[in-house]
Amino acid sequence: MTGSTALVWFRRDLRVADQPTFLAAGRGRRALALFVLDPRLVRPAGEARRWFLSGCLRALDESLRGRLLVVEGDPVEVVPRVAREAGAVQVHVAADFGPYGQARDQAVERALGEDGRLLVRTGSPYAVAPGRVRSADGGRYRVFTPFRRAWADHGWRPPADTDAGFLDWIDPATLAVAATPIPPEPPVTAELPDPGEAAAHRRWEVFRRDALEDYADGRDRPDRPGTSKLSPYLKFGCVHPRTLLADLAGSTGDGADAFRAELAWRDFYADVLDQRPDSARRNYDRSFDALATDSGPEADRLFAAWREGRTGFPVVDAGMRQLLAEGWMHNRVRMITASFLVKDLHLPWWWGARHFMRALVDGDLAANQHGWQWVAGSGTDAAPYFRVFNPVLQGERFDPDGDYVRTYVPELAGIAGKAVHQPWKLPGGPPDGYPAPVVDHRHERVVALDRYEAVRAAR
Ligand code: FAD
Repeated sequence: MTGSTALVWFRRDLRVADQPTFLAAGRGRRALALFVLDPRLVRPAGEARRWFLSGCLRALDESLRGRLLVVEGDPVEVVPRVAREAGAVQVHVAADFGPYGQARDQAVERALGEDGRLLVRTGSPYAVAPGRVRSADGGRYRVFTPFRRAWADHGWRPPADTDAGFLDWIDPATLAVAATPIPPEPPVTAELPDPGEAAAHRRWEVFRRDALEDYADGRDRPDRPGTSKLSPYLKFGCVHPRTLLADLAGSTGDGADAFRAELAWRDFYADVLDQRPDSARRNYDRSFDALATDSGPEADRLFAAWREGRTGFPVVDAGMRQLLAEGWMHNRVRMITASFLVKDLHLPWWWGARHFMRALVDGDLAANQHGWQWVAGSGTDAAPYFRVFNPVLQGERFDPDGDYVRTYVPELAGIAGKAVHQPWKLPGGPPDGYPAPVVDHRHERVVALDRYEAVRAAR
């Protein structure tokens, strides 16, 4: 049995370096590389993420010298069929911890088991897999700071020393399995990052050289290239966080510390989702089910203005337009735009989360839903409910010269300096084509506080 072909089923690990599944298959083993285009995952992704995925698959196929088999369909049917055709007794995967991924893998495991085949899980997309970081009494964490401490104490494995030549890849054309061509990249208007493993490593090198040292402060400035922009690559596993952490080993600066903390947030939210799969769709803190939110034609109109970047609040509009233009938004601005939707427009956080998930090239259920709930106050470590971001002050503080706004809102390009954050104060009002504010922030802040106070009082 051990001498049989191995099937390596790629999912969120579209790379050949640091690949524990290759180690599990065994060096030099005959292996078939498979990716299943699962309509249930591909369909809800917006075109930016589908574009990026196609590019990553093409890059992986090139690394494997054209030996990646892509098949469209339900993995519960496709994987056992391909395993049978390839004569593979073991199917190697990195464990998936999302609610859908776990249920899918259990179903695939059962189907494989029916004719004596095994699903072998090795590694995960995280530095430390969900469920591993435990308190002294064996419990799971619900707050980030103690999680982070225990996460650092737990540590992570060194990167697996693998490359494309580690396994002896079978030519899928020799099998009687109908392959699906890698889907052509859908036409996109957005300017998206180069997909694939090599691009991930290039990005990481540029970030380490130019921005890591100042990252602790620079990460809050959307007007500067101060963050790694690695999120799409981490999402699809073009690079593993363990590889990044290994590169930072021994780096003691504030920048490296802050960067490690962000990777800990990524692991933390995956752990929280694993503990509470329901938190992907519902309030983590169920007392927030009682929070009053708006609906109806006026709510729909405001929601459309938010999505299109036409709220009249420049930093909010710049963020929403960056999302449309690049499939990505700076973290500080994700917080500002999310706060605006929840606390100025009084709309349910999941409306915004759904829009982000479609539009983001890095759209990730754990990070997105919990990032939204952090802002809405209903999640773990939630921002205190009385903290309502003031979009003008946030803009002036984190985009002090207005460069970020002018980059994404051309109607405001003629306004110099930080005056760009309050175009309604210009003599004659906002420039032609740019809307007046859709709400009065001071008033909506009071409305939000009243509604949040009602939730607190009812607990
Ligand atoms: P860097 O600052 O360079 O950070 C390095 C890596 O750490 C990121 O690539 C990411 O993998 C991880 N990371 C950083 N911050 C966080 C965080 N707060 N939570 C979890 N992981 C983090 N991140 C996603 O990857 N996908 C999402 O769908 C997503 N949705 C979000 C929605 C909201 C409302 C908020 C407030 C945050 C969201 N984030 C999401 C987290 C964060 O905004 C992005 O990870 C970050 O902006 C990506 O840019 P970067 O790679 O340059 O980050």
